[in-house]
Amino acid sequence: MAKDLNIILFGAPGAGKSTHVEMLQDAGVDFSLVSLGKILRDRAAEDSDTGRKIKETMSKGDLLDDFFIRELVKDALRDVDKSKIVILDGFPRTLGQLEVTDQIFADLEMALPIMIYIKITQEEAVRRLSGRLICSECKSTYQEEFLDDKEKCEKCGGKLAQREDDTPEAIKNRFDLFEMQIDLIKHYFETRGRYYEIDGLKERHERHEDIMKVINSFND
Ligand code: AMP
Repeated sequence: MAKDLNIILFGAPGAGKSTHVEMLQDAGVDFSLVSLGKILRDRAAEDSDTGRKIKETMSKGDLLDDFFIRELVKDALRDVDKSKIVILDGFPRTLGQLEVTDQIFADLEMALPIMIYIKITQEEAVRRLSGRLICSECKSTYQEEFLDDKEKCEKCGGKLAQREDDTPEAIKNRFDLFEMQIDLIKHYFETRGRYYEIDGLKERHERHEDIMKVINSFND
């Protein structure tokens, strides 16, 4: 697999980004993951003013300050194993973040990222997020309708629960914020020949195949 490949995995809340990260792992793709949502959820659990501020912002579905996010991304990318494909999930989400994205990669001497955008409709996002369950231990995500046991994680036995920001109001807010930014972010990557769109309404195995085709097209 080409190690010069770095990927921004992009999609509205509910598009299936975490599901596809797990499927890529299961398919043996060798990558390092930087997930902003995961980093923020870990920070939100800290007993500090910053932790409490992050928690409050996330629970409403609002976005955190660009400067703060940019520093978090820089730190995370600096620490990650760059000999593998780097998948960045959850960044950029605003124009202010987009403006510095390529520079962050260039400063760290990483190949400029391609964007893989998993596109879904708002109705589908609300439907999926309302039925999303997350393991309190290993953080695997599930769709309630596909589970026999809706209480226990089938991977580690941890307790399953809804994510705190998967309330109808927060879901709508997150989707609206996302829609406001998507055109500019998409245009930026499209005009630079680094944009790949996946039909997020297809069945999950077909979506996975489509993502694999993009990754394999970068094989040496
Ligand atoms: P996610 O897990 O990607 O749905 O992100 C959960 C929440 O984390 C979002 O609703 C935001 O509050 C926050 N968040 C994640 N990524 C960003 C970002 N790039 N900029 C600002 N806030 C973010």
